[in-house]
Amino acid sequence: MTLSLKPRFKGQKVLITGSSQGIGEAIAHFFAKEGARVALNARQEDKLLALRKKLAKVPEGEHVIAAGDISKEKDVEALFAKAIKELGGLDIIINNAGFLINAPSDEMTLSDFESVMAVNVTGVMLSSRYALQYWLKHNVKGRIVVTSSVHETIPKPGYLGYSASKGAVGNMVRTLALEYASRGIRVNSVAPGAIVTPMNDAWTKDPEQYKAVSDHIPMKRPGNSDEIAAAVAFLASEESSYITGQTLYVDGGLTLYGDFEKNWSS
Ligand code: NAD
Repeated sequence: MTLSLKPRFKGQKVLITGSSQGIGEAIAHFFAKEGARVALNARQEDKLLALRKKLAKVPEGEHVIAAGDISKEKDVEALFAKAIKELGGLDIIINNAGFLINAPSDEMTLSDFESVMAVNVTGVMLSSRYALQYWLKHNVKGRIVVTSSVHETIPKPGYLGYSASKGAVGNMVRTLALEYASRGIRVNSVAPGAIVTPMNDAWTKDPEQYKAVSDHIPMKRPGNSDEIAAAVAFLASEESSYITGQTLYVDGGLTLYGDFEKNWSS
């Protein structure tokens, strides 16, 4: 067998939402190192401009800034138009932007609940729709990868909006995958467990809480953003050419019902 040394994404054009920090930033580095030209997205441009300077350079041209709020239709329309124009096309989108609000469910305000759904669900729907419109018009066999969460299936008290949003994302991925499979468009998601990113500063920067979280994970440690980026890249690459509509859990075993490791039941 001849081993191909070609970078997996050479010449590919990739839009990554929520890529100013954390998992999205790691995904941007991963794709750029593998030869892709990327369009970076977050609401503010300044962090994206700084990140662009740090990304691996590709001969096909500069990486692109596509700032905007992915929960707002006008922003998504404009940022897709800019990304497609400046990249000269679009092959892959990574729907990664997301956030959470932690509050007891009986106290959660409607506006907090709706703001989580707007980014984590509506944002995925809007950006997928603009990508699909472009791919259908130009006959591109595009790929969508969504960053879901273990809370797509594990209930999490206090995370009502977040758990509901990631559950919705799971079925959105399966629906889109089925609807466009015959056009050669694939749609999958990666569901991270506990990952060290700015979203989790509250426990990652506190040694006691870090240990408490680690103790609950079968592999006894949180994951890092590169471990998520590698799984995202796999689902966006030709290596997964027959996979669609799937959620790949990347969680150190969190979804394995760790409490059953020792036999406390009959
Ligand atoms: P993060 O807070 O470090 O980064 C989130 C990114 O999304 C940032 O770039 C932020 O600017 C951007 N963003 C937020 N709202 C936006 C909006 N309305 N429009 C455009 N961009 C927006 O978070 P992270 O930990 O890197 O999380 C990334 C994704 O991974 C999220 O979807 C999150 O739900 C998911 N996830 C994270 C973990 C974890 O442990 N960190 C676990 C499971 C799932």
